[in-house]
Amino acid sequence: MTNFTTVKNEVPTRPKRAVIIGAGFGGLSLGIRLQSLGFDTLIVERLDGPGGRGYQKRTPDGYVFDMGPTVITAPHFIEELFALERGQPNLDGPDFPPEVLNAPRVTSGESGGLRTREYVKLVPILPFYRIVFDDGTYFDYDGDPEGTRRQIAELAPEDLAGYERFQADAGAIFERGFLELGYTHFGDIPTMLRAVPDLLRLDAVRTLFSFTSKYFQSDKMRQVFSFETLLIGGNPLSVPAIYAMIHFVEKTWGIHYAMGGTGALVRGLVRKFEELGGQIRYGAGVEEIIVTDEWGQPVTNPLSKKVARGVVLEGGERLPADLVVSNGDWANTYLKRVPGAARLVNSDVRVKAARQSMSLLVIYFGFRDDGQPLNLKHHNILLGPRYEALLTEIFGQKVLGMDFSQYLHVPTLTDPALAPPGHHAAYTLIPVPHNGSGLDWTVEGPKLVERVYNYLEERRIIPDLRARLTHSEYITPDYFAGTLDSYLGNAFGPEPLLVQSAFFRPHNRSEDVQNLYLVGAGAQPGGGTPSVMMSAKMTARLVAEDFSY
Ligand SMILES: Cc1cc2nc3c(=O)[nH]c(=O)nc-3n(C[C@H](O)[C@H](O)[C@H](O)COP(=O)(O)OP(=O)(O)OC[C@H]3O[C@@H](n4cnc5c(N)ncnc54)[C@H](O)[C@@H]3O)c2cc1C
Repeated sequence: MTNFTTVKNEVPTRPKRAVIIGAGFGGLSLGIRLQSLGFDTLIVERLDGPGGRGYQKRTPDGYVFDMGPTVITAPHFIEELFALERGQPNLDGPDFPPEVLNAPRVTSGESGGLRTREYVKLVPILPFYRIVFDDGTYFDYDGDPEGTRRQIAELAPEDLAGYERFQADAGAIFERGFLELGYTHFGDIPTMLRAVPDLLRLDAVRTLFSFTSKYFQSDKMRQVFSFETLLIGGNPLSVPAIYAMIHFVEKTWGIHYAMGGTGALVRGLVRKFEELGGQIRYGAGVEEIIVTDEWGQPVTNPLSKKVARGVVLEGGERLPADLVVSNGDWANTYLKRVPGAARLVNSDVRVKAARQSMSLLVIYFGFRDDGQPLNLKHHNILLGPRYEALLTEIFGQKVLGMDFSQYLHVPTLTDPALAPPGHHAAYTLIPVPHNGSGLDWTVEGPKLVERVYNYLEERRIIPDLRARLTHSEYITPDYFAGTLDSYLGNAFGPEPLLVQSAFFRPHNRSEDVQNLYLVGAGAQPGGGTPSVMMSAKMTARLVAEDFSY
């Protein structure tokens, strides 16, 4: 096993040493891939455990809370990782082989692939979401066209014909944008330009909300078919319509849950990484990425070639490496970890000018069952009275409105083991502006939490909630800024806008520093766990190319 603390200035020979900063889904997925390629990989993580946004919290009073991702899609991406072996990186070949494209969606029993089952138990969740409108009506979305048509007929019959046209056109976007171009690393302008005619032809560059509005007349259906991008930090009013593909990713491969919570999946990925020989150090925050010129001297001339040589941990320990990958926040990677003299493309001006995604207030709470059946599903979207105006306040004006929408997650409806007997564990997530708003969350946080509990009680979504409450804690944008070191406390990385997508999204191979790479939500293709796993494969391909593996 390589000792990362003592190796000094050796001439690199295979296998090469890689350091990954961060053990989020991106860092872990890439760690597995680099180990399979033959690298010796060390992941350094500043938190005391893995997962990043997918960190799992166990409370002394017996609750288990996944702090972040809960909606698991594209289970074959997970299977791909668990199936890798040392020396068998499987980076060539089709990204969506026929057995994946033609496999029927699993709707009952256990859903993970055969290798996945050695590490974690995945089960399908149906419906995918219960979308509750402000007037109390709801739509149980499960990807089944018949059920969808039946519910549209009840809620908005005028939209039935539009639904059929939407399926055809959004399906074409999914095929071109996801199945064919999903894994393209847009590292240069010609690659980008080759994709443009198709995106224009498919009308995928207009905003998602205006795209859905072409097909649906009712506010309800416009919301049902556009809200999903909020789960990856995208404002439906400004993300390009290429994101209509999310709807198809869900419909094609379903939505799944890892028994034991997303944390169980994270633990499975850690185990796989370690079985392949990788090492992880927790409580190991990176202070600086070491960058020199090509002769190993400090960079004085920004125009000279710059090379990543390793990292310096908080506390001063130096870890030399042949390549460094940041899974941390894109903006803070460059602003705080790479010396300014080594950056031209990712200069302070460019990084600060990028638009960051919104942030979140998330309340993790436990409550007594009290024998009262919940009229809720595993995943619930509770829409407030306003949609477009609310989104404009959060993303544009960066103010807290009078009302809010939320995503309420009740995993104990599927997995009672996450709470003490007779109790539920839940979280509710409220999109809020990032810290560019100047809001003081020590003041606004408790007030918003009260408003949310009032809402859940008064609407009888969880009747008598406060009387039944046994556990309550919450995070605000300050958690994202502080604990996760995200610029302005963004929850999802740079906002997925047309001008921040593909070539214009941060590149997975640093444009400034040789042997420095990025992986995760801030890099291409974008946020959300499936995209982050895709980004790991894209970065692994670039590394394999650069190091001739
Ligand atoms: C509340 C919430 C709910 C979500 N729900 C879903 C969902 O249901 N489905 C879905 O697909 N996606 C969801 N997402 C999005 C998804 O969680 C993220 O896109 C994804 O987990 C990001 O993974 P990542 O590896 O890019 O980054 P992260 O998970 O942020 O991991 C980065 C890691 O780097 C570490 N790090 C940063 N700086 C340093 C440093 N200097 N030194 C050492 N370590 C460092 C951090 O501590 C962190 O562990 C959700 C996100 C949130 C916040």
